[in-house]
Amino acid sequence: MEVTFLGTASAIPTRKRNHTSIVVKVSDRMILLDCGEATQKQLMEAEISPMKLDDIYITHLHGDHILGLPALIQSLAFRGRDRPLNIYGPKGIGQLLENIKHLGYATIGYEIITHEITEQNCEVYRQDDFKIEARLMKHTVPDYAYKIEQIRQPKFLRQKAIDLGIKPGPLFGKLQSGEDVEVDGKIIKPQQVTGPPRKGIKLVFSGDTIPCDAMVEFARDADVLIHEATFTKDIRTKAKENGHTVAEDAAYIAKDAGVNLLVLTHLSNRYTESKELEDEAKAVFENTHYAYDFMQLVIENKKPTVIKNLK
Ligand SMILES: [Zn+2]
Ligand SMILES: [Zn+2]
Repeated sequence: MEVTFLGTASAIPTRKRNHTSIVVKVSDRMILLDCGEATQKQLMEAEISPMKLDDIYITHLHGDHILGLPALIQSLAFRGRDRPLNIYGPKGIGQLLENIKHLGYATIGYEIITHEITEQNCEVYRQDDFKIEARLMKHTVPDYAYKIEQIRQPKFLRQKAIDLGIKPGPLFGKLQSGEDVEVDGKIIKPQQVTGPPRKGIKLVFSGDTIPCDAMVEFARDADVLIHEATFTKDIRTKAKENGHTVAEDAAYIAKDAGVNLLVLTHLSNRYTESKELEDEAKAVFENTHYAYDFMQLVIENKKPTVIKNLK
């Protein structure tokens, strides 16, 4: 899984930080998490073609997470996109996209498939090798955190299959693709010749939220938790009033959830030194990094996550 940060600012962007947007390459799909203003420009800077995007997941409908949508959607039309674009988001995303389609003199020549999420906790996408879940967080407006989780098929136990009287060959293939087979009048099920479930890579992104138990549960054992840390702990009360988390509390969540790596994002423009936020979190949870625009994470099974700077 490859994760590229296109924007890491909170409400007001800075010269170095764009509004929120993250691209995730997982399996054969290219996914965008949030689409702050100028996301299409950031995609180009990161040398990622916007035409390759398959799906967009919006955490919530605050401007710093959605104002890039109209421009990106129109620009894809100019570029001649003809395949559908899936856009997921909380209640109101359907109306927002209807408005965008009729903004100015836009003609959108491709289909936008809207997926409005209304449940508190649900699976929103699944294919053979990964799935995406959404979970309602606690912000001033409905905000969904998203979890992208790789699905790994359990190991095929070759010797066990042989012991059950199955000869190596086409019957092995059938069992490996999940089909029952018959040997000497006996039905053998795939579960009889496969090992325990294997853990796949898990990535969780919070969107905007106050610290909450729902996140601890949702992010349990994640490889990477990307959590908002808008402020430092000296203004915890203000942070909470505005529906945000301070760096120290993001760290407690990472610790309680037992994640591997915590990445802090959605950083307020009041901090010229992002390390201030990182240090505050590190005092509680050592494996913390602050995010910056064009930072890339390469997450692989059984390997430490690699952090690269694309610029
Ligand atoms: Zn925000
Ligand atoms: Zn917000």
